[in-house]
Amino acid sequence: MLDSAQKLIRDAGGKLGLGDEQIEALISTNAEHKFEIALTNGEKYQAFRVQHNNKRGPYKGGIRFHPQVDYDEVRALATLMSFKTAVSGIPMGGGKGGVAVDPKKLSEEALEELSRKYVKGLYKNIGPDKDVPAPDVNTNAKIIDWMVDEYEKQTGDKTKASFTGKSIENGGSLGRDAATGRGGVIVLREILNKLSINGPITIAMQGWGNVGSYFALISEADHADWKLVAATDSSGGRYDTAGLSAKELDKYKKSRGRLVEFKKGKEITNEDLIGLDVDVLVLAALEDAVNNDNQPKIKAKLILELANGPVTYDAYRSLSGRDIIDVPDILANAGGVVVSYLEWVQNKKSEQWPEDRVNRELENYLAKAADKVYMRMKKENIPLKEAAFAEAIVKLTS
Ligand code: GLU
Repeated sequence: MLDSAQKLIRDAGGKLGLGDEQIEALISTNAEHKFEIALTNGEKYQAFRVQHNNKRGPYKGGIRFHPQVDYDEVRALATLMSFKTAVSGIPMGGGKGGVAVDPKKLSEEALEELSRKYVKGLYKNIGPDKDVPAPDVNTNAKIIDWMVDEYEKQTGDKTKASFTGKSIENGGSLGRDAATGRGGVIVLREILNKLSINGPITIAMQGWGNVGSYFALISEADHADWKLVAATDSSGGRYDTAGLSAKELDKYKKSRGRLVEFKKGKEITNEDLIGLDVDVLVLAALEDAVNNDNQPKIKAKLILELANGPVTYDAYRSLSGRDIIDVPDILANAGGVVVSYLEWVQNKKSEQWPEDRVNRELENYLAKAADKVYMRMKKENIPLKEAAFAEAIVKLTS
């Protein structure tokens, strides 16, 4: 993923006429922190925080708990955050953190200890005007609340602006939970309109976590002519050309069901889903889901990257050659960080905004960002993904 992100930056930077030194400056990270977390039960875990770029504001980006976390993954994700905040027009930079752990194997007590020790190891390097972490894969408002509390204990800071993605009772923003999924709906709608794809569309979606589930539920509520025909989680899932109900799938999932066992439609694997004959393929699981091996079977006209880095660079180049539009993560999933920024502003001003105000502002940021990216794609005659990176580079270098 790091290699893919860097290649995208080199492509876009090169075409903008940037010299090697300027491109290297965009790629390199400002600071990297790595430490070990030792739990009282004797288990030890590697923890990371990478601060990529703060030219436009404090470092901003989530913390993930996942066994695959390593320096390169966190570097790639931190880099993507700087480009995401730039393209969406919020005054923040980019960073990312993670712990190499499978949180599903931890007790509640161990999870809290891990979250607090992450902050104990890092609090001197983060803060409301320095670096503002948030949730990412396998982290949520409960974990962020522990972290904010620990940050307050260590520093005395009571503003709650040290982290975003908090629970509502603890200074979180209304609409933050749904923001990444909602943002995906806004971006998809804008891009389809611009492409004059107005009729009914079919959607296949990989991944039913926080982001994917909200995307599907909001799509279903707001767009009667978007039909979800396939959905998977890590177990696999279901396919039904007549359409699947997002509400029913979500209810099933929340009752701890595996989508592969859902009663409607026919069974499909995650790999089957990639090759379905649909208009839009939504990737809301993990990185590298579409790669050189499976990209030839893609039939969708458009890919929406709701996960970070779900399409490898080589796969994206091949897809572009086949005129398949790849709406990149830095635009498609920017809704989360935009509302994180709005949460941070509310904390700084000691305000709490109604959800419709938050959603309106989200809409404004993303509609504007989608428009700028699309216009650049048209003007420069480059892929949409490259246009998004170019837009971000212009902001990061001006
Ligand atoms: N983890 C999310 C992302 O990858 C949100 C980051 C944030 O809100 O700071 O964009």
